Amino acid sequence: MYDLIVIGAGSGGVRCARMSAQKGAKVAIIEERFYGGTCVNVGCVPKKLFVYASHYGEDFHDAHRFGWSTQSTQFDWPTLVENKNAEIARLNGIYENLLKNAGVTIYNGRGRISSPNTVEVNGETLRAKNILIATGSYPFKPDFPGSEHALISDHMFYLDSLPTHAVVVGGGYIAVEFAGILAGLGVSTHLIYRGSSLLKRFDGDVRHHLAEELDRKGIKVHLSTSIESMEKLSEKEYRLKLNSGEELSTGLVLYATGRKPLTQDLGLDLAGVALGADGEILVNEDYQTNVPGIYAVGDVINRMQLTPVALAEGMYVANKLFGGDPVGVDYVRIPTAVFSQPSVATVGPTEEEARQQFPQLKVYRSAFRALKNTVSGNQERTMMKLLVDGATDKVIAAHMVGPDAAEIIQGIAIAIRAGATKKIFDTTIGIHPSSAEEYVTMREPVGD
Ligand code: NDP
Repeated sequence: MYDLIVIGAGSGGVRCARMSAQKGAKVAIIEERFYGGTCVNVGCVPKKLFVYASHYGEDFHDAHRFGWSTQSTQFDWPTLVENKNAEIARLNGIYENLLKNAGVTIYNGRGRISSPNTVEVNGETLRAKNILIATGSYPFKPDFPGSEHALISDHMFYLDSLPTHAVVVGGGYIAVEFAGILAGLGVSTHLIYRGSSLLKRFDGDVRHHLAEELDRKGIKVHLSTSIESMEKLSEKEYRLKLNSGEELSTGLVLYATGRKPLTQDLGLDLAGVALGADGEILVNEDYQTNVPGIYAVGDVINRMQLTPVALAEGMYVANKLFGGDPVGVDYVRIPTAVFSQPSVATVGPTEEEARQQFPQLKVYRSAFRALKNTVSGNQERTMMKLLVDGATDKVIAAHMVGPDAAEIIQGIAIAIRAGATKKIFDTTIGIHPSSAEEYVTMREPVGD
């Protein structure tokens, strides 16, 4: 009898299994694909490596005015994929060792819940006092004529070669990130989005600023547009009909249209686990489902599909079940970044949301060309923004579009969670010269 059986060895599952075992619990984890889940294998980590790779083109160009000659640069896609694969294999091994060293028993196979206290794997029945479902999510692709030819993000990490032309569909994280990766690697890239402004849930200034920068990078953005049909003309050529009546010829179509909770074929019906309208597992504040002893964390509960959130949720469950301080996850001020080019990072409400909650809202905004670009000649501009509640002087949000936005906003997020006021920001000494110092030197609110 196990104290805990975890189904899914992604970010949330591994964290909970490992922490629980370290607290002395008898733990098993079941994984049918790869250790580390989406983030390590077909998500955050390889995506970020691709972002680094794609930025070199611009860097080589910018280097000229700093005195460097880079006449003959060439990019080789198979080299990147091979080196990325080697790094992912290394990380898979690290995850496996973390589990083994913590004393977690590993089962490779598909886990299916057969009753509130039993899980079947590879023909074996395992008994457990508690079960954690951490199976994550999968990329969703809508059905339309020819949709079978369209790729999802998983495929992008293992392409044999890069096309000369590509179309990315969607207006969220993955679409914007992959459009930047492809364009940076020299692929002529179209981004097709059904709505009127990319990154719908982000601050208006962020969306506006990013749109200008994507245009500058040569990404052809089609707003209020969707694909009606996709026809395969040859192995590497597809014809798209758009709702605008326009036709596009392209070598690849990537659909980045959201991710759905992965709940199929897990035996959830046998155990009587309740699902929500989007197929997500419904949980209470302790991540317990409607069935006592069965818990769920991460993408499968569809609160915030972010690795650090899954980690925090997994940690909470381990602490709750096996002793420790279960610190509740603060879903309100979750810092997040989109690794577009330039990158976006944010913490706290958008200006549009904050105006509803804070009648005395003060907005501080700065847009500038970073020092490096004055010499390089690169026209890219950075945008930084702070939202302050005028009633309390507390900084409630920070938004940024620019290089290293994630690195900068992570620190600001700590200050905001700690309740820092604008006065604290203003009396903090800047680091000069840096873009980040702008956050402690914004003196006049917009419109005052
Ligand atoms: P998002 O939810 O970010 O974006 C989905 C996009 O697809 C939206 O623009 C949506 O449009 C559009 N869409 C949805 N359905 C359709 C449809 N039927 N036809 C056309 N367009 C459609 O999802 P992603 O797939 O980009 O990413 C999934 C999640 O993974 C993210 O939400 C994020 O939580 C996580 N992620 C995080 C990253 C990071 O931290 N850097 C990186 C990548 C992913 P509309 O806006 O109109 O609804």
